[in-house]
Amino acid sequence: TNLDNSTDTTNTTTNLDNSTATTIAMNSSYTTGGVNESSTTSIMNSTTTAASSNGSITGTTQGPIFVPAPSYNSTKEPTKPPLPEELREVFSRPNQNEGKEFWMKKGQDELTKSLQMTLNTNKAKNVILFLGDGLGIPTIVASRIYKGQLQKVSGEEQELYFETFPYVGLSKTYCVDKQVPDSASTGTAYLTGVKANFQTLGVDSSVQLGNCSTVTEESKVTSIAQWALDAGMRAGIVSSTRITHATPAASYAHSSHRDYECDEMIPAEMKQLCPHIKDIARQLIEDEPGKRFHVILGGGYQCFNGNVSNSTGDPVDEQDCQRQDGRDLFQQWQDDKKAEGKTFSAVRTKSDLLSDKVNDSEYLLGLFANSHLPYEFEKLKMGLDMPSLEDMTKRAIQVLQQGDEGFFLLVEGGRIDHAHHEGTARKALEETLAFEDAVRAGVQMVDTEETLVVVTADHSHVMTINGYPLRGQSIIGLGDMGTDNLPYTTLMYTNGKGFKYKSLNSTHGGRWNISYDEVTDMEYEQLSAVPLDDETHGGEDVSIYAIGPMSHLFHGVHEQNYIAHVMGYAACIGANQDHCAEGNTASQTNNISSGLLLSLVILNYLTCLLFR
Ligand SMILES: [Zn+2]
Repeated sequence: TNLDNSTDTTNTTTNLDNSTATTIAMNSSYTTGGVNESSTTSIMNSTTTAASSNGSITGTTQGPIFVPAPSYNSTKEPTKPPLPEELREVFSRPNQNEGKEFWMKKGQDELTKSLQMTLNTNKAKNVILFLGDGLGIPTIVASRIYKGQLQKVSGEEQELYFETFPYVGLSKTYCVDKQVPDSASTGTAYLTGVKANFQTLGVDSSVQLGNCSTVTEESKVTSIAQWALDAGMRAGIVSSTRITHATPAASYAHSSHRDYECDEMIPAEMKQLCPHIKDIARQLIEDEPGKRFHVILGGGYQCFNGNVSNSTGDPVDEQDCQRQDGRDLFQQWQDDKKAEGKTFSAVRTKSDLLSDKVNDSEYLLGLFANSHLPYEFEKLKMGLDMPSLEDMTKRAIQVLQQGDEGFFLLVEGGRIDHAHHEGTARKALEETLAFEDAVRAGVQMVDTEETLVVVTADHSHVMTINGYPLRGQSIIGLGDMGTDNLPYTTLMYTNGKGFKYKSLNSTHGGRWNISYDEVTDMEYEQLSAVPLDDETHGGEDVSIYAIGPMSHLFHGVHEQNYIAHVMGYAACIGANQDHCAEGNTASQTNNISSGLLLSLVILNYLTCLLFR
């Protein structure tokens, strides 16, 4: 059974070219949801399973046994109207004629562009790492389609800004002790060049999770932010999460557990075992290299000063660290800078961040929320005086560019990951587009002849893109029909909060009929196969996009820790600087140059064959 056999696909495809957003009738059961599920004209043309009018699956006596979940049980009958029309929206292609000539020209144009590529072997004066937390390849693809569809075109043919970068590689994200990693172990890998154990920060694999006594001076690893400062460059970190959260913390902290963001989360027995143990927030303000960072922008004020209160759009996060020791680290940072005679600004709002008084500051600290910054769409909806990731990125680069010594900057789009953990795919796509805005704004402020820009993720998620929606079919809508005659969305999770079923009796259940769900809602939890409160990370490789000096060194399948090595090499900081002393970076890349040349010759040859 496949799409081509469906009796209904003919009228859908003929509609495609005629309007910008065509409503399609996929089949009768699709349009009427649970009301008419006995219909057999589903798009899958399933004959293996018949569904009765109440949605129960007949002919299944050995069905799976479900543990009842309170929010989805048999007493909850659909009360909403049938599927809204817009859920089956299909956006038209920007190029109506995608015939032979179209694709031949497109292929040749791309080839011409590739043949014109030259290597940039300059020394990188600046390095910017844009890290999309949880930004796996399925999320990138879905976001690119979503981006197009927001502009009322089909979307598949669109590209995110960083997808236009010339060099792409893959990053193997596993950490030392887990197949599927977390953000602390991965942050340690791509920022320090050394892989670590799950949930540990800035230490090598000799450190056991949550055992502070295993953190020794020898176990500590330094990040590229430290290498940059030691070489006289400036350094900064920007995140939409708490600035003590795993990703930014990997640039400055050393901890046997990522959760030790402030004193409250360090267990009493660890404080006893390691009397000098320092939480992550204190490490940022008091220790190397954090105390020398020129830019620190993000959330997490409650980890720096426990005297906080709830306000609209900015709740105190009771689940996470809230400072207990009476310290005011936000003030302490300012006192330290004053004592050092530095020019500085410490800000709490977007208005202050963008105000003129920040212009001449050599150092900038901004903590804009008690915990994480809200999702971008929430900031807009609530009209909060909080900066976007783009606002923070632009201000960071402006401050870092004041000196002529060059800089390293880490920018984390940290809430793509959170949206996925909540099982809400559309929010993840929105956050990805906000991340894209930050990348675009950042790159437009620098010269890629002298600035290496790397865009990557720490790990993926278990969201997937189901088959077989039509070209241009809404990426956040329904995708197709199951053999149970019920629809499923194009985006789904293999685990997480979206495990929904319908109880048939005390021991048997069937899949939840999502026809009545508001599947395009920002907070909609797409179906998942396995119930979990927190959707998990995914274990497949993530992509690395690069432009600027030495960006061609991202060219294949790499271990994640390799990223730090390339960034350091490009900027002549860290472990490998021999090529810099010689003042001849090109000699180091001859092999690569000839390799590329050979590839081009082969490509040329293949092109000739093609047009013989
Ligand atoms: Zn995560």
